[in-house]
Amino acid sequence: RLSTLTPVKNEPLTLPNGAKYEQPVGLFINGEFVKSQSGKRFETENPTTETPIISVYEAGEADANAAVEAAKNAFKNWGFKTAPSERGVLLNKLADLIERDLDLISAIETTDNGKVFAQAQGDVALVVKVLRYYAGFADKIGGDLVQTNDGFFNYTRKEPLGVCGQIIPWNFPLLMWAWKIAPALTTGNTVVLKTAESTPLSALYACKLSQEAGFPKGVLNVVSGYGPVGGVLSAHPDIKKIAFTGSTATGKQVAKTALTSNLKKTTMELGGKSPNIIFDDANLEDALSAAALGIFFNSGEVCCAGSRLFVQAGVYDQVVEAFKKKAESVKVGDPFDPNSLQGPQQNKNQFKKILGYIEQGQKEGAHLLCGGSAQAGPNKGYFIQPTVFTDVNNDMSIVREEIFGPVLTITKFNTVDEVIDMANDSEYGLAAGIHTTDINKAHYVAENIASGTIWVNCYNAFHEAVPFGGYKQSGFGKEMGRDGLENYLQTKAVRVKLDERKWADKQ
Ligand code: NAD
Repeated sequence: RLSTLTPVKNEPLTLPNGAKYEQPVGLFINGEFVKSQSGKRFETENPTTETPIISVYEAGEADANAAVEAAKNAFKNWGFKTAPSERGVLLNKLADLIERDLDLISAIETTDNGKVFAQAQGDVALVVKVLRYYAGFADKIGGDLVQTNDGFFNYTRKEPLGVCGQIIPWNFPLLMWAWKIAPALTTGNTVVLKTAESTPLSALYACKLSQEAGFPKGVLNVVSGYGPVGGVLSAHPDIKKIAFTGSTATGKQVAKTALTSNLKKTTMELGGKSPNIIFDDANLEDALSAAALGIFFNSGEVCCAGSRLFVQAGVYDQVVEAFKKKAESVKVGDPFDPNSLQGPQQNKNQFKKILGYIEQGQKEGAHLLCGGSAQAGPNKGYFIQPTVFTDVNNDMSIVREEIFGPVLTITKFNTVDEVIDMANDSEYGLAAGIHTTDINKAHYVAENIASGTIWVNCYNAFHEAVPFGGYKQSGFGKEMGRDGLENYLQTKAVRVKLDERKWADKQ
């Protein structure tokens, strides 16, 4: 199959900010950009203008199979013969090249995803840190010596799994790519990654940089395509693990297919409906900024968005009034305009889904405090006003379901234990924010909220060394930090029986 791959040239592209470059459009298989076997391409759209950016080749089953074959061949060397330090060197080189091209990659991300340029720069800066963080582990992975005092010499080896399938969403296209590939490659696995159908461009560009860095052919493969290609990876007998980030509904399907095909290991980073709690004793100015960041960052298209704000009775009226002002002052517009704080939603489906929830919230009797409608940008685009609801209860769909947009609900509470119950009344458990100046209260609430991440007096405060991942239906398995490595390793135990009697007889 690999012999039938047809290389394809990168194509010149000019971005809305004037940047000119060569965009890869092929599938990245066995170290080359190639045509899909069907020859089919699909267009990716600029959500700011609703116009096509460029078309890329669309992977089908045959292409996914070819990518897995390439990754399987590459694993023999990469997993067991390549010096681990060499893997680290390559990841560091890739990080350097991404840092070199940070502004261009950020512009690609802003064009394809719609996020404001400064936020795209922040994403790409974190990509660089994630790659460097995991590069440092490459030559520090090893097992244990286990002492049993029974005439055996015991040790464990930490071994890579083999070919890993990875499926990512569209909200942080390159960051999700880095979270996936870095721990997999540093531990000696090889990768076939499927990008989201609406944001294929930045990952393809980064694959071009992996060629420049000198990664061996087939170690990293990226296929652009729709859901069914993800299904092919989930079912593939030669894939040993699937790492998935996306919605809970799709994650359940992927996990089921992965399990019933060949008992693949899985990690699932899924949806959320995260609580953000402001206590009476909080520093209100900081808490309000964190609450705004929690819901409006990345146009609200963040799995851990602090979409349920709980405010203690003593400061409720003050916070609601101040937050309304804050929401109304968020400048929504062209994501390349340095004054814009919020760009368009990433795609039309998402745009319609969010507006549907806003309508539903009003029907269910919630009070629309501000926002609530689509806001046309300079050239159309999927813009939605920052929207806040009050007078909500926990039965409303806008409080229970993940909206994945700039829509916040605010609920009043009285006591600490009451808000813990309210916060935990969700099928999700990805993140939570706590705002208080009482350190004892902060720790008590942190301990009692069932979610994978707790931010105290901050929100969306990511760090590459700190693990991230959900409780409950927000998924399982951590990404980032040391925990992120465990998902890509398996432990082999070796017991060696020593013939001590023979040696003793000779004495
Ligand atoms: P999605 O589930 O629709 O798609 C995610 C990916 O899965 C895409 O690449 C898609 O093509 C692919 N896919 C779709 N159907 C598939 C199938 N049957 N088999 C295999 N793959 C399939 O999610 P989305 O709309 O792209 O992303 C938004 C969701 O992602 C939100 O729910 C959000 O909370 C979640 N998310 C979670 C995290 C996290 O770390 N927990 C991070 C980002 C996004």
